[in-house]
Amino acid sequence: MSSATCIFCKIIKGDIPSFKLFESDKVFAFLDIQPLSRGHALVIPKYHGAKLTDIPDEDLQEILPVAKKLAKISGAEDFNILQNNGRIAHQVVDHVHFHMIPKPNETEGLGIGWPTQKTDMDKLKALFEELKSKM
Ligand code: 5GP
Ligand code: ZN
Repeated sequence: MSSATCIFCKIIKGDIPSFKLFESDKVFAFLDIQPLSRGHALVIPKYHGAKLTDIPDEDLQEILPVAKKLAKISGAEDFNILQNNGRIAHQVVDHVHFHMIPKPNETEGLGIGWPTQKTDMDKLKALFEELKSKM
């Protein structure tokens, strides 16, 4: 499945050039054009879908091994794997992509806000029961 208007589908087809690092039947990896750090790369399923929940399991299986390889070849000791879903979650391109972003120092790479919320064991347990019943 691919979308005629999708920029990453065009990259997969070769209609838009990219610095391709890896390609298989199901997966494509390439350098990010606006890197947050040296080695910032993207791994995408060839299957077109906007959000992680749109992609069949079989099209996701190779993603993490390829992200791991990208991390290794970048030489990064510290790095983040990031996958954004939806505009307010910072997704700009509506074709699922996993970022591998080296974190060489405090200022380069991914900056993360981590606004923890107050909770307690009763609330956590109620949530746990609800989610577990749906698993
Ligand atoms: P998002 O914010 O959607 O998770 O990230 C989209 C990423 O795709 C950004 O890091 C952006 O730099 C990258 N990107 C957008 N357009 C292109 C392109 O045409 N080529 C490449 N290589 N990367 C792109
Ligand atoms: Zn696409």
